[in-house]
Amino acid sequence: MKKILCLASSLVLVCFQVVWADVHIMTINDFHGWVEESGSSPGMAKLAVFMNDYRRRHPDTVVVSAGDNYQGEALSTLSRGDLVNALFGLVGLQFSAVGNHEFDWGTEHFARWNASGVQYLAANVVDRKTGQAPAWVTPYAIVQAGGKKIALIGLSTRETPGSTAPKHIKGLRFEDAALSARRWIRHLKQGRDRLGAPDAVILLSHVPSFQDRATGLIFGDELSALTGLKGVDAIITGHSHKRVTGRHRGVPVVQAGCFGKAVGVLRLEFDGRRLARVTPEVIEFKGMAGSMPADPGVLAVTETYRKRMSGLIDRTVCRLRTDLPFERSRDEQLTPLGYLICKAIQTQTGVQVALVNNGAIRRGLKAGIVTYGHIMGVFPFDDYVVTMRMSGKDLTSLIKAAVEGKDMRACQFAGVRLRVRPGTGGRQRIVAVQLENGDAIRDETDYTVAVPDYIFEGGDGHNFAAARDAHYVYVQLRDMLVEYLEARRDIDAPDIARLYGNGPGRGRP
Ligand SMILES: [Zn+2]
Repeated sequence: MKKILCLASSLVLVCFQVVWADVHIMTINDFHGWVEESGSSPGMAKLAVFMNDYRRRHPDTVVVSAGDNYQGEALSTLSRGDLVNALFGLVGLQFSAVGNHEFDWGTEHFARWNASGVQYLAANVVDRKTGQAPAWVTPYAIVQAGGKKIALIGLSTRETPGSTAPKHIKGLRFEDAALSARRWIRHLKQGRDRLGAPDAVILLSHVPSFQDRATGLIFGDELSALTGLKGVDAIITGHSHKRVTGRHRGVPVVQAGCFGKAVGVLRLEFDGRRLARVTPEVIEFKGMAGSMPADPGVLAVTETYRKRMSGLIDRTVCRLRTDLPFERSRDEQLTPLGYLICKAIQTQTGVQVALVNNGAIRRGLKAGIVTYGHIMGVFPFDDYVVTMRMSGKDLTSLIKAAVEGKDMRACQFAGVRLRVRPGTGGRQRIVAVQLENGDAIRDETDYTVAVPDYIFEGGDGHNFAAARDAHYVYVQLRDMLVEYLEARRDIDAPDIARLYGNGPGRGRP
């Protein structure tokens, strides 16, 4: 791109032409299948108009994703990523980091996703047997834009093993992102790729970053190790769902929130061959979604998929009399929706206590007709239910650990009532656990419990070593809720006030 630079001296206006080349890297992250407009997320059709207009104005734009692309809306989940990839193709998205949720259906879909035009990049995902990258992923790619060679090194977060069902990442090792990045930066800088040394090296990562809104300070442990590396020109981050734009130790960092609510841009300005400057930016669509135009191509493709799946998605499950929101930012507390879900599992499996990790619940339900598609939005994951038996002593400590958990590791519950007191860091501390009917939990007595297989198998750091007679119920969590709601038809918000609080918590409700 050519720019006219004008300098005014005291006497003459001197205009001269400098050849600056701009390359734009446009990124989204943690899209989570939010194909259709919802709340502050404009949906893919509107996003596409914005992105394609940007690409028209800046032809040297490379479009990427920092991972966690699918697992949200029913259309995205049922099509196992195919709809999202088809729509990514319509905005020219070519490369993606491997997010933890890319493993939710095992690794069998990567080959198809790569073939569809979204190439997955991860330098730190290694096959334990060969010590090399598995066949379905590439450590890096060099893309040519604006006459420049831009290297994108893919990096997964070290949090992947702790937030993925172990069976889905069997045989894989997640290496330290900084160590892997260093190895491939060296490879690239030495010109060992057949295209020669790149003009810029960008880390396309699903590594989380955070930013203090007041001070603008960017932070993140895993990020710090990356910004400490030599030869990194910018870092694209993800996973934390935050809006991040600025510099960490002088290295430009960008992350565009989540669900397509924003788009991130890295503008690379070259002075001849030299990369002169990288400017990160996040463009948010808050409050704009309503007035944004929609791309007819995206709508048409979405409609094709909808027709194919309409019988299932549009099936009425029940009627809700009130909204049942689910705010993940308040996930340490029991919510009516969380309780209803756990109640459904408790009822359908006949156990005394049910727990569901907050991370399994992705969104709330609105009052009115609830369809199977809506329930899929709540539970995009194919979690199965596991029932088990454990002593009252183990149950009490399990509940304390599971409900007091931090971040998204806490659980919703049914079957027990908890007395809490304010603890450290604004969190609640559980001081007493009883059965929901007010009966005491006796240390030596056995109780029956049900949880999603994801946490039973150690997901989110949960530990069920004390469980006995574990039994996989081969009905998905989602379908258990559907069966429970279908049997009731008209649903009110359950009253949970008596189950979680700082009152005396004694006697029957
Ligand atoms: Zn993630």
